[in-house]
Amino acid sequence: NREIQLIKRPEAAPSHEHLKVVETEQPEPRQGEALVKLLYVSVDPYMRGRMSDAESYIAPFQLNEPMEGGVVAEVVQSKDDSLNQGDIVTAMLPWREYALVKADSVRKVDPSLGPVTTSLGILGMPGLTAYFGLMDIGQPQKGETLVVSGAAGAVGSTVVQIGKIVGCHVVGIAGSDEKTSYLMNELGVDEVINYKKENMADALANACPDGVDVYFDNVGGDISDRVYPLLNKYARIAQCGAIASYNVPNDQGPRMQMHLIKSSALIKGFTVGDYQTRFNEGFNYLSKWLKEGKLTYEETVQEGFETIPDAFFGLFEGKNIGKQLVKVSEP
Ligand code: NDP
Repeated sequence: NREIQLIKRPEAAPSHEHLKVVETEQPEPRQGEALVKLLYVSVDPYMRGRMSDAESYIAPFQLNEPMEGGVVAEVVQSKDDSLNQGDIVTAMLPWREYALVKADSVRKVDPSLGPVTTSLGILGMPGLTAYFGLMDIGQPQKGETLVVSGAAGAVGSTVVQIGKIVGCHVVGIAGSDEKTSYLMNELGVDEVINYKKENMADALANACPDGVDVYFDNVGGDISDRVYPLLNKYARIAQCGAIASYNVPNDQGPRMQMHLIKSSALIKGFTVGDYQTRFNEGFNYLSKWLKEGKLTYEETVQEGFETIPDAFFGLFEGKNIGKQLVKVSEP
């Protein structure tokens, strides 16, 4: 039974010097517990924040303890009446091949809704983040221009599609031609920008001839600095992520206040947990749209427990299209 521990806190980009695969004992379930085997692990940019010990909305990982996050797992032994051997569940669990759970800390996955991996992507945390950030904060209206940064990732690829469902002119920003062609050809995004190749000011001006009404921001940094000058009167900004800054200690940038004042724009940061009491609403819309074929999704799946760190590091190099997962074992 292996686990992946945090052994050193990163200052900048996380790498193999910060994580270590360690052998541990196979736990035995006691009454009221079940033993689960990991099938899929989700790696997520927010985990970078938990590797630091700075205060945040979620507690830091502890040194010499396993990293943890969203997983899909199978019950292999149960001493809890409500969990049966063979049940597939999703939960927040340590990066450990076998782990103990209690029934109230897991959610059974309904395989009729889609492949079980969707519970970590479009029908899970990233999907809900996209739905609430866009609909609640962005308040997109038909015909408005919606700009999405990090558009080809797990959250962004859902945001752009919901934007099309609403009837927006959707502009997607991403870091490769493969990603921009995915956005345009498979997700129906109206205008795409490869921020690594194009002059951002010119490309944004061309893509947004009527300015920007809603900005769903996954990345912050230089990209956002270029979006602010285009904000329309009463624009809304859903500040979802700032991955451009996660590995840059003391990151600083141009000032945005004047742009907000001039446009009377509203900017609101959020975490998906803010919407916990409304998760059912989001889940119902996402699963309905998925069933109707109005939403689709992509996954980048790497194989092997020991490859989890590389999959995680890859997020910061843009290696994934859609949701980045690691397949750990077969059900
Ligand atoms: P993604 O699937 O979008 O993966 C991360 C992507 O970020 C990469 O593929 C890469 O794409 C892009 N990226 C990496 N480094 C940079 C950089 N320096 N500048 C610009 N883009 C970069 O991850 P998620 O969809 O899971 O998350 C997207 C964002 O939303 C993250 O910032 C995350 O922290 C945040 N988030 C916030 C939540 C909340 O509750 N507020 C919940 C979930 C996520 P590319 O090739 O285009 O560069």
